[in-house]
Amino acid sequence: MTPPVLRLLGFLLLFGLSACAGHGMGSVQMASSAAGPVILISVDGFRSDYLDRGITPHMSALAGRGVRADMRAAFPTKTFPNHYTLVTGLRPDRHGLVDNVMQDPELPGRVFRLGDRAEVTAPVWWNDGTPIWVSAERAGLTTATLFWPGSEAEIDGVRPTHWRTFDQTMSAEARVDQVLAWLDAPAAERPTFLALYFDEVDTYGHHYGPDSAELNAAAARTDAAIGRLTEGLESRNLLGQTNIVVVSDHGMAETSRDRVIALEDLVSPEDGQVLSTGPHLTFEPAEGRQAQAEAALLRDHEHMTCWRKADLPARFAYGQHRRVASLFCLAETGWEILPREVAARRPVVGGAHGFDPDDPTMTAVFVAAGPAFQSGVALPRIDNVDVYPLLARLLAIGPAPHQGNTSALEAGLAQD
Ligand code: AMP
Ligand code: ZN
Ligand code: ZN
Repeated sequence: MTPPVLRLLGFLLLFGLSACAGHGMGSVQMASSAAGPVILISVDGFRSDYLDRGITPHMSALAGRGVRADMRAAFPTKTFPNHYTLVTGLRPDRHGLVDNVMQDPELPGRVFRLGDRAEVTAPVWWNDGTPIWVSAERAGLTTATLFWPGSEAEIDGVRPTHWRTFDQTMSAEARVDQVLAWLDAPAAERPTFLALYFDEVDTYGHHYGPDSAELNAAAARTDAAIGRLTEGLESRNLLGQTNIVVVSDHGMAETSRDRVIALEDLVSPEDGQVLSTGPHLTFEPAEGRQAQAEAALLRDHEHMTCWRKADLPARFAYGQHRRVASLFCLAETGWEILPREVAARRPVVGGAHGFDPDDPTMTAVFVAAGPAFQSGVALPRIDNVDVYPLLARLLAIGPAPHQGNTSALEAGLAQD
């Protein structure tokens, strides 16, 4: 039953919206100011099937009162490319975060790496995409990000109103408490869009493998932090009006010290520069060494396939951007291309991602609950470029150009 005062409010809003639209005014703004917050949560490296292990009761509760889907990650199945896809609706070849490690012919001598603070926060790497928080801020909304890749850079001249420098040592509880504190801010500073990032599941997946007790314990700890958030929302009477979207960036495949392709056996250092190693190898031939590098890599290999950037399979939607390295080798799932000395330090059994996005082990998770969603709906597999237009719709803001589509999600949305 809808209390009369809410029904009246609904009528006034509807009336107000059509009146505004008739005068060409900001109907979008009115709609968004009426809605509750949207919280986007990333659990880095949370493979879709972890949700069925019975170890994440809070995520399961969200799925139970909302929707869930398996989600295809973008190529390459790495953290920075996929986090930027989730908030831009563009695949890496378009948004320009083409790998966790990359070069740009327009930025000679520079290399983007996660550990390089100056590069991670430099706008130039991010400016090919417009993340949701930039569009939301431009539409007059307040946004807050707790460690989303890209959120430490000023993009197109805009930053989230609230953001923090990445600190891997900040506990999951403290991250949740920061998000709740932002929601307690006075109305003028209170965010409508919030992003929250957890990395522990990915870290344990790498060290112990996706089928380890250690991974399960990490997933349970992150799930408890999500429970702390929903309880914090409930105690503030905000849970019923908040749309929560939980995603991951990619899955995790088991690797082994016995499944290594030694880099030293493939190419010689004078042929060029190695950028990424692991599930994929990216290689930039040195001047005058293109033929040697291609001869070494573009032949048949066991457990690995290499391509020129122009020849990558179409389903990867990858190879147009100037930052994509000239030569790209993808290992068979579960294998890694590594220098011998790095391989020797790898755990006997561990985990990695960066493999073929159509391998089931790379499948990411999507769970969403709140007033915009139906209850208890399992959707067919979605694509992670579809998350961005969904977020724009939840925030009632006009999306920037994107490659996603909400039609696959339509069946999970509540009727307006
Ligand atoms: P990867 O598994 O190599 O694709 O990347 C995952 C790692 O990225 C996690 O261990 C995070 O700690 C790290 N990471 C996430 N956000 C940031 C950031 N803003 N700056 C640097 N590293 C980050
Ligand atoms: Zn990741
Ligand atoms: Zn990882």
